[in-house]
Amino acid sequence: MIEFDGIPVAGGSRVGRAALYEESPGTVIPLVPSGRPEAELERLAQALVEAREGLSRLRESLGGDSSIGEIFRAHAQMLEDLRPEIEGQIGAGATAEHAVSRVMHQKAELFASSDNPALQNHRRDIEDLERRVLRALAGLAPEGPTTDDEDGPRVVVARELTPSEAAGLQGQHVVGLALERGGATSHTAVIAKSLGIPCVMGVEGLTQKVAPGDTVWVDGTRGVVVVNPDPDTVRRARSLGDRYERLEAVLLRESHLPAETLDGHRVVLLANVEYPMDVEAGIERGVSGVGLYRTEFLYDPARGLPSEEEQVESYRATLQRIGDGRLTVRTFDFGADKEMPRAGPPEPNPAMGLRSLRWCFANPDLFLAQLRAILRVAAEGDVRIMLPMVGSIEEVWRAKAMIRQAARELESEGTEHRPDPPIGVMIEIPAAAVIADLLAREVDFFSIGTNDLIQYDLAVDRVNPQVAGLFRPSHPSVLRLLQGVLKAAAEASIPVSICGEMGGHSIYAALLLGMGIREFSLTPGYVPRVRRLVRTLTLRRARAIAAQCLLLRTAEEIEAHLHSRVTPVGMG
Ligand code: PEP
Ligand code: MG
Repeated sequence: MIEFDGIPVAGGSRVGRAALYEESPGTVIPLVPSGRPEAELERLAQALVEAREGLSRLRESLGGDSSIGEIFRAHAQMLEDLRPEIEGQIGAGATAEHAVSRVMHQKAELFASSDNPALQNHRRDIEDLERRVLRALAGLAPEGPTTDDEDGPRVVVARELTPSEAAGLQGQHVVGLALERGGATSHTAVIAKSLGIPCVMGVEGLTQKVAPGDTVWVDGTRGVVVVNPDPDTVRRARSLGDRYERLEAVLLRESHLPAETLDGHRVVLLANVEYPMDVEAGIERGVSGVGLYRTEFLYDPARGLPSEEEQVESYRATLQRIGDGRLTVRTFDFGADKEMPRAGPPEPNPAMGLRSLRWCFANPDLFLAQLRAILRVAAEGDVRIMLPMVGSIEEVWRAKAMIRQAARELESEGTEHRPDPPIGVMIEIPAAAVIADLLAREVDFFSIGTNDLIQYDLAVDRVNPQVAGLFRPSHPSVLRLLQGVLKAAAEASIPVSICGEMGGHSIYAALLLGMGIREFSLTPGYVPRVRRLVRTLTLRRARAIAAQCLLLRTAEEIEAHLHSRVTPVGMG
């Protein structure tokens, strides 16, 4: 029995026999002069038709999930975008194979060489396309893992999977995915989540240790893969998996219930949104709006930043889906671990570099286009503007001046808009928490981004697995910062929500409730859990728990106290 740690990508716990998938070796196509560009162009055109048809078949097979369909629609668009360059190579004498491989390799390498993990993920999309077109040129069907239903449940073990290989798993008896590479934000991850297949990525060295037919346990909730577990472990894995699925189903059925404590205090549950599928998942779980729309995910490096009009369409579509609910649009938070358009020279410390609001100020044309789009949609419903990574009052003034400028422009053009939607700031730099009393006089609301707040407060990189154990939401320093923010907001009578991951974990949700948080904006998957937790507590009890935590001296003591007083919902 060997246990591996990886990145938890899609929750659930399942055991199956290993189906090892090894993609065919890399495609380095030698440059052989074709001498017949016309014929090669014709072959390319035919292969592109087949590739496009394959993509639209995949899209259709994924049924109603438009966000996944969107991934493959973007692939088809990428093919179109790259076509002139490929044709140019053929015109210069290359074979269709060489031209495809060369253009796509260059593009993939560009992504792969990025320091940014999210951009690196796009390498896989390009490689996916390259293989699709090359196979079409060779007259072969697209490849991907195939399993035999007769063999029972299978866990696909691979170095990496492309998005279309992952999508091709539906309908096969695949109960788990364990991959050596890939990240939680990759398209392959999005597809695994949406197909409901427990998935762990980043499991180094896994394929060396697994033989076809080995038993493999994938615990996608904790990010653990166990090869050839002993019988006791298999029993535990199965019962964990059954419990997980039963609880998920029960919690989902509670989505219509109010998030209200036993002593009658209401809590607002909102969704954190990256992709359209998150809006749907939030609605299914009964949220009353979007508390954090991460607009930087609208950026697609292959297609560029969406125009003002395209942004209007995206914001409007979200607003219409949530009906009367609120839509909190966070302005672009590019940089650090998120993809960034118009990136400058590589930065030694991107998390502390020209990112987020700083990047917006350095790119006023793009920032103004976004503000204009938000103000336009704000005329149609409850739309709020949220500024990320604010560290000073001057930044709020500067952003507000740009919002006024956007409103003036729209006014003089006669474009319908709302000039004065509520403006809030994220509290995610310790400086902002420390001056929360001053900031509270400048804005309409706060939203606490604990992912970054903890990172900067404790000097612990939020994406570095080597220091993950030091990332402690329960550190007394974090609690004191939160306490100060809540006090400042209460004195200024402005609402405060929490939108970091901390809010989604039972013990911390109880603590936050007791400290005074009444609005939780959550990854949709966490919503049912937090609703259940709120419904099992009285505010009085939550306050007593929080008061005691604030007297303790270490993260360990605080966690021990929380575990002794709060029964987590499900696995946490
Ligand atoms: C945060 O920092 O807590 C947050 C919600 O924003 P993001 O995770 O997008 O940085
Ligand atoms: Mg943040």
